[in-house]
Amino acid sequence: MDIFEKCFSYTTVKEAIKEGFYPFFIPLSENEGTEVEYRGHRLIMCGSNNYLGLTTHPKVREAAIEAIRRFGTSCTGSRFLNGTLEMHEQLEAELAEWVGKPAALTFSTGMQVNLGTVSALVGRDDIVILDKDDHASIVDGARLGYGKIQRFRHNDMEHLECVLKGLPDNAGKLIVVDGLFSMEGDLAPLDEMTVIAKKYNARLMVDDAHGMGVNGGGHGTAWQFGVTDQVDLIMSTFSKSFASLGGFVAGDADVIDYVKHHARALIFSASMPPANTAAALAALDVMRQEPDLAARVNANAEKIRNGLKSLGFNTGRSVTPVVPVIIGDDQLTFLTWKSLFEEGVFVNPVISPAVAPGHQLLRTSYMATHTDEQLDKVLGIFEKVGKQVGLI
Ligand code: PMP
Repeated sequence: MDIFEKCFSYTTVKEAIKEGFYPFFIPLSENEGTEVEYRGHRLIMCGSNNYLGLTTHPKVREAAIEAIRRFGTSCTGSRFLNGTLEMHEQLEAELAEWVGKPAALTFSTGMQVNLGTVSALVGRDDIVILDKDDHASIVDGARLGYGKIQRFRHNDMEHLECVLKGLPDNAGKLIVVDGLFSMEGDLAPLDEMTVIAKKYNARLMVDDAHGMGVNGGGHGTAWQFGVTDQVDLIMSTFSKSFASLGGFVAGDADVIDYVKHHARALIFSASMPPANTAAALAALDVMRQEPDLAARVNANAEKIRNGLKSLGFNTGRSVTPVVPVIIGDDQLTFLTWKSLFEEGVFVNPVISPAVAPGHQLLRTSYMATHTDEQLDKVLGIFEKVGKQVGLI
């Protein structure tokens, strides 16, 4: 048996490409934030995580360029050995203060934060408890750990309590949830969850990849709920509002120190390059200097959500800049995606297993830098396409 056999018979993608119907890995020739170009075709970007629009902010751009001039292009080593710059530690100190925790630790991607942190903390006799809609990186971090995995129904606090009740008192327990769920744009009820976690002596970690920069005036979802002190660990990424690449986890200094010395995804991987570190620092500075950015991205999302709803689209549970258009069928999802793309709107089609069957959707997301004119155009195109494909 040839181990490559499955690759040779894997034709789904090849067929889709041949039919001109493949919505993934689209190579853009231009990207100016709110507008992008594919083979000379201009599109309004409504499928990015550049929530604050900072990838093209002059201060962020300049900081990255200056860091390359001063430090070169790479740290060529792990934080643990030769790859730590003063800048990494400065970023950690500023992030800890921004999210309201005593300490923070940066990793080279958000995926690595979850792989490294969850697997370092959840040992053989421990239990990690996950929301069924948690991001793949949390699930993979839990799988890498030696503990048991339990799951509860999405945002169902009764079910969470029921799961916790059934666990042994003496086992270490870590609940890990997204703060802002990345597909449907709803929030974890952190106010209720912190109370339940305490009642069952479980620790709570929030993945705020999408909420940081957007919720709580930019300080994140725990901040918005006023429960920063009751959430034990807050992680986020630099690949969204921070307009860079990398990620961090923040919490109690002893816990962060333990993760720093046990997370294999940190110790055995090279550190964030200088340009990315400087870009994240500059983005944080912009968030501090321009607090209206978080308000603006939320206002833009509200305008679109209200517009889509009044046209008759189903935007599900969204209360954030992630605004899904629920379609509920694979073929219709792809057809609507294709028509929107041709008309000049970039969105992301999402089918199962990324979402539950019946929840197939177009994931749309908005930026602080989208103009009213762009948003009106997007709504006009949604109306035209929605009628064409029979969605509205
Ligand atoms: N957590 C969530 C909820 C995410 O959406 C993502 C990225 N899509 C990550 C973690 C991983 O972040 P990164 O892109 O920095 O690897």
